[in-house]
Amino acid sequence: MLICDAHCDTLSRLFNNYKTDRLDITLERLKEGKISLQTMAMYVGGSNKPEDVKRQMDGMLTVYQDLLKNGWVQAFDPSEAEENKVKTMLSIEGCEIFEQDFAYIQLYRDAGVRMAAITWNYENALGTPHCKDATTGLTDFGFKCLFEMERLGIAADVSHLNERGFWDIMNKGHKPPLASHSCARKICDHTRNLNDEQLKALFQSGGWIGLNYLPLFLTGSNDATTEDIARHIRHMYDLGGAGHVGLGSDFDGIGEKPVGLDNPTELTNLFETLKNHGFSQADLNDIAGKAFIDYYKRL
Ligand SMILES: [Zn+2]
Repeated sequence: MLICDAHCDTLSRLFNNYKTDRLDITLERLKEGKISLQTMAMYVGGSNKPEDVKRQMDGMLTVYQDLLKNGWVQAFDPSEAEENKVKTMLSIEGCEIFEQDFAYIQLYRDAGVRMAAITWNYENALGTPHCKDATTGLTDFGFKCLFEMERLGIAADVSHLNERGFWDIMNKGHKPPLASHSCARKICDHTRNLNDEQLKALFQSGGWIGLNYLPLFLTGSNDATTEDIARHIRHMYDLGGAGHVGLGSDFDGIGEKPVGLDNPTELTNLFETLKNHGFSQADLNDIAGKAFIDYYKRL
């Protein structure tokens, strides 16, 4: 079974000098958890001032290149995922860097970036996040970036984006988007989660969503279990999500975690729960990673 995870903030933690023993994700844990592909985000969270954005992005790329010198392996496409071999893939969380030079989109694609979240929680020149106004859509520049990303095979990530931005991508984009780390709003009413109309449209378009493990997005409180993740996935399957749902842990980006899912080595607990909830082995294969790999074939 190929296991792929669409989001973690480990590069940001390393850039901010977190010690290895405070991280959720290490190479050893990815190996032990049999993760085939871990997507690693370059996340512009500390500050959105242009000079800080550049400093953070450069810093995280350097951190990543250092990892590659120390036994980590980079994949440029999810189809490179293999069993019993840990690979990693780059993503961007918050496209502020594209404001500085449109040519950065090509440059980061060349560096291996295969997904980019239009916004994090800052409003930027492309769009508006979930936590601000829900009705402001993508800007002209946002569409320009979206179309360039589509041309280059960078998935548009709608996690953190507001609802109008989501529909702009759904209605005017040419490729299906993904939500790298979000849950179902019907099960947990949080603006970071996608409502049923969004989920249905995402699945029908050929898009994909990775479940975020943060208890706040799963249950609305600081407590959750793998049962709660199973409830979100079941709801998504009821909306036509089979083959379009997977994992977006948000490890090293989340403080609280579900009981029994503290780091990648504990993923077997989640698969066990899903089995107990009636998901078939084919469903498990899809959720673990196959759906993510298949999604990229449609880009
Ligand atoms: Zn995030």
